[in-house]
Amino acid sequence: MIIAVDGPTASGKGTLAKALAAHYSLPFLDTGLLYRAVGRQVQLRQGNADDAADALAGCDFPDSLLNDPILRTEEVGGLASRVSIHPEVRAALNKRQVDFANQPGGALLDGRDIGTVIAPHANVKLFVTAPAEIRAQRRHDEMRRQGMNVDFANILSDIRLRDERDMGRADAPLKPAEDALLLDTGDLTIGDAVQAAISLVESRLRTH
Ligand code: C5P
Repeated sequence: MIIAVDGPTASGKGTLAKALAAHYSLPFLDTGLLYRAVGRQVQLRQGNADDAADALAGCDFPDSLLNDPILRTEEVGGLASRVSIHPEVRAALNKRQVDFANQPGGALLDGRDIGTVIAPHANVKLFVTAPAEIRAQRRHDEMRRQGMNVDFANILSDIRLRDERDMGRADAPLKPAEDALLLDTGDLTIGDAVQAAISLVESRLRTH
């Protein structure tokens, strides 16, 4: 079984994807991490994330970079969103994701274009959303807990910018696949969102 989980930044899709992968014992790939590694590699080489050639050169990052906690920072998230616009970068990362999705026994992948491009044949596609203000609040609270001194208005404008970039790009824009099941986590606790996601998967498996 292949499960595709897509959605905008801070929608809760990562948390849901991990919980679903554990529940269904599926290998899990956080595809955002690949784009983050490219963004970080470009930064390490002092390249320009907006330049297609620099961004493509960043695709040969060493696998060890995927374990670097710096990839989780907002700064690297912003770089990831910039390098991910280039079709050359998306093409370079495509095979790794497609192979992961199609491994024997199935897989669960989370990202922006899993249900639309990487695994259009997925058995179940979830599109996870939440209003931008709620996503910004979550990100804000999370960063505060980590001891960072952050400003809500800045986080909200970063999230809106990232949404625009992800939804507005020509190649593989963020959008729900036609047959995706929508899950708005705005009013849900993590526990309730996980239960809702499992119920959606079960309902899709019963009818297909
Ligand atoms: O999900 P995460 O926030 O880690 O993704 C970082 C960035 O990588 C996103 O803002 C998006 O621009 C890009 N990305 C993408 N396609 C994916 C996963 C992530 O374009 N499948």
